Amino acid sequence: MPYPDVLEKLVSLAKRRGFIFQSSEIYGGTGSVWDYGPLGVELKNNVKARWWNAMVRQRDDVEGLDAAILMNPKVWEASGHVAGFTDPLIDCKTCKSRFRADKLQDAQCPRKPSRHPGEYAECQLTEARQFNLMFKTFMGPVEDSASVVYLRPETAQGIFVNFLNVQQATRQKVPFGIAQIGKAFRNEITPGNFTFRTREFEQMEMQFFVEPGTDMEWFAKWKAWRREWHVGLGLADDRLQYHQHGEKELAHYARAAFDIEFDFGGSLGFQEIEGVHNRSDFDLTQHQSHSGKRLEYVDQANNRRYVPYVIETSLGADRVTLAALVNAYREEAVEGEEEGRTVLRLHPALAPITAGVFPLTKKDGQPEMATRLAADLRKRFPVFYDEAGAIGRRYRRQDEAGTPFGITVDGDSARHDDVTIRFRDDLQQIRVATGRVAEVIASYIASDVPVAEASRVVHP
Ligand code: ATP
Repeated sequence: MPYPDVLEKLVSLAKRRGFIFQSSEIYGGTGSVWDYGPLGVELKNNVKARWWNAMVRQRDDVEGLDAAILMNPKVWEASGHVAGFTDPLIDCKTCKSRFRADKLQDAQCPRKPSRHPGEYAECQLTEARQFNLMFKTFMGPVEDSASVVYLRPETAQGIFVNFLNVQQATRQKVPFGIAQIGKAFRNEITPGNFTFRTREFEQMEMQFFVEPGTDMEWFAKWKAWRREWHVGLGLADDRLQYHQHGEKELAHYARAAFDIEFDFGGSLGFQEIEGVHNRSDFDLTQHQSHSGKRLEYVDQANNRRYVPYVIETSLGADRVTLAALVNAYREEAVEGEEEGRTVLRLHPALAPITAGVFPLTKKDGQPEMATRLAADLRKRFPVFYDEAGAIGRRYRRQDEAGTPFGITVDGDSARHDDVTIRFRDDLQQIRVATGRVAEVIASYIASDVPVAEASRVVHP
């Protein structure tokens, strides 16, 4: 069965619960720019932290970097972006819309009933022309061409220009990598599908520098590691696939490229979330000739110098966060209850709130005990305390936010000094000594298996 299209429902849940808002909404919004609300910023930060941990902290052969968004404009000449970072653009003179020529079949004419561009007899489509996707701005007080700078359309170039700085400062030996997370900007012709394609987004990129000749070996390793990372994030295995770039898609300098695609469901289907590329020595060689500075690695042990080849892994933080939301979204019937529930089955390590803490009633010191427990847990996890309304309602609200654990203080809690932990995914409940709650939750998060499975297997 194909996965359903949940995007529209997610847009509404994201707004209602404070994951994602339209940017400048009170002014009617800005074209395809989004703001992350209280739950969304936690979710995206967790995604980024997981990437940083896997790529930088847990490896001794990858270093971190945080390069500036504004760079010397010559960078973008050397990288090929000034001349070639373009999409073919087609205008419709009748309805004044713009379309990407290479995505015409996916585009919809704004007129009703909606058709593909050019399908109405009176449509007048122009020839395709090249449109540069970089945002231009001015540096300094004078708006003349001498001070034009660009908002970076990718983070990778910040890594290439710092290759020798990082190598010399850290004394890393090839093979080694440099990773960074940062904003990128593209004046996309046809943005859309919520945060899938936006004009301002965040990238998580890593460039791995290797000796020429060993590049295909490293390429194969990174291709496999990166897919594993997505599975570890909780993305369903059957929603992930590789797409190999054919000769026509492959950039002229690239030796090989695979996209990792995720099935977003409905008519969107499988779409790229990450690219893994073998970029040869193209970028460093370009920067070497444009800057006049040597960008070679000196292999002292073998008394050789060479320009390394680069394996790049390039992922959009917003796009993979959206994939995690789409992957997690469920509408479920609940046994014995008329109303179903909407639940986000997010990996516990990604969930914006780790635990909801609830007194069953407002009597018998339950709120006091629950408040103390919440304060204690908050030292380790994001916790939401809630005493208002029926307990079922309170659980539902946390289900919708993706909170994996519900901790309830009830009438027996004071006497036995214990509470119940309710698991979001399979709704099982276990009783745990109050002093062990933090430890039990931590073990579930560390176990890296979905909560429902873990709660069946581990039972502390
Ligand atoms: P496309 O062909 O879809 O425009 P691309 O191949 O140019 O994308 P890359 O330049 O390889 O994309 O970018 C690497 C990653 O950055 C993508 O896999 C995606 O996750 C993310 N990304 C690229 N463009 C956008 C965007 N406009 N909005 C959100 N994420 C983006």
